[in-house]
Amino acid sequence: MTLRLYDTREQQLRDFVPLDPENITMYVCGPTVQSGPHIGHVRAALSFDLLRRWLDVRHGRVTFVRNVTDIDDKVLANATEVEPWWALAYRMEQEFTQAYSAIGILPPTYEPRATASVPQMQELIQTLIERGHAYPAPDRSGDVYFDVRSWPAYGTLTNQSVDAMEAAEDADPRGKRNPQDFALWKGAKEGEPADAVWQSPWGQGRPGWHIECSAMSRRYLGDEFDIHGGGLDLRFPHHENELAQSTAAGLGFARYWVHNGLVTVGGQKMSKSLGNFTLAADVLKEHDPLVVRYALAAAHYRSSLDLTASSWTEAEAALGRIGGFLQRVGRIAGGGIGYFVGQSLPAPFTEAMDDDLGVPQALAVLHETVRAGNSALDSGDTDAALDAARAVLAMTSVLGLVPSSASTASTAHATALDSLVQEMITQRAQARADKDWAAADRIRDAIAAAGITLEDTPAGTHWSIDG
Ligand SMILES: [Zn+2]
Repeated sequence: MTLRLYDTREQQLRDFVPLDPENITMYVCGPTVQSGPHIGHVRAALSFDLLRRWLDVRHGRVTFVRNVTDIDDKVLANATEVEPWWALAYRMEQEFTQAYSAIGILPPTYEPRATASVPQMQELIQTLIERGHAYPAPDRSGDVYFDVRSWPAYGTLTNQSVDAMEAAEDADPRGKRNPQDFALWKGAKEGEPADAVWQSPWGQGRPGWHIECSAMSRRYLGDEFDIHGGGLDLRFPHHENELAQSTAAGLGFARYWVHNGLVTVGGQKMSKSLGNFTLAADVLKEHDPLVVRYALAAAHYRSSLDLTASSWTEAEAALGRIGGFLQRVGRIAGGGIGYFVGQSLPAPFTEAMDDDLGVPQALAVLHETVRAGNSALDSGDTDAALDAARAVLAMTSVLGLVPSSASTASTAHATALDSLVQEMITQRAQARADKDWAAADRIRDAIAAAGITLEDTPAGTHWSIDG
């Protein structure tokens, strides 16, 4: 069986044939750290976390690069006198990292910041100028543009002709040969901070957004690599421009293009003006991180994901069913349930994941296994229940949805404690009924010494832990 992925450039499913089957190379566009992450950012990162985890199961090693765009017009625009652009960028980068790690998105192999690869960007721009695909603006502004008319393949990623494209609004159009030409290098302008400027053969300035990814993917993954990923909203102009830059410079670049769908809230696109802009931090304040991960993973990565109140309650219920089954098995398994991902994954789960990362179908297999496992427990078939539990653990491990051992342990502790205290409450009640006051007092003192308070009410005796 082969993994098939939907390649957005070819607009079809393709068998995934890596350059090196023992080391998959993948580049995903990371955030521009101008403000904190919204839920769409987190969903995008999660889509590629799931792909990366599956490639890891399939191939054993993935070199995964996700960049941080820490210099950009928008970062400069959001800086203040008290918080310079680089401090803002770092603070926001940390907010992204926190949101990602909260829901179990694994850190990339490398996470390069754009500002640390400026010489590599300049080298690529120089190559493009030498090959006749880029030119410095004649107005001596310091800008350098990519010449889209010099590259007939420009537009192939999004299937557009240059004439039908909108003008690139990333720099002063007066220096451009064509309105669609886009900036590779942006000459420094008055009023911009002196520390946001790098020396270059074309004058002081800073890189354009698109060249950052072309240079960083090459630096960390080589001239050609397996998968380039990002949100559907990045296909144009960002990815179209990355593809043009790298291939016009003579590089093989990405062999597969994978794009995730966007997040809508209550059926509407997220926007500040509609007031439905959902920040990851707010969602994580309200919901358990595992519930958030489940809710964001449950739709296929290519479909748009509409978040409503029921997204969270459904995710919570689904995780409750998985956790409930594992706890039931845990009570009879004693010393834990050993499993190996490779051996314990059911074939239909593997088939679903191989079919363009079919997580919804994979989750269906997971829940079917939970149902079968519960039936096995009901009928006393311990071996079948243990097999089901191993499969459930393997599947949840691949998806990053293992119910946390901490919460499982604390639930188990609470259950054990409750059963002991209830037994003592019953014995105390019996001693009182027998008018054995010495025994009743002994039990009460033992409970109090354990830091537990009893409260007698008409409905029975309740207990709680002091303080
Ligand atoms: Zn990019």
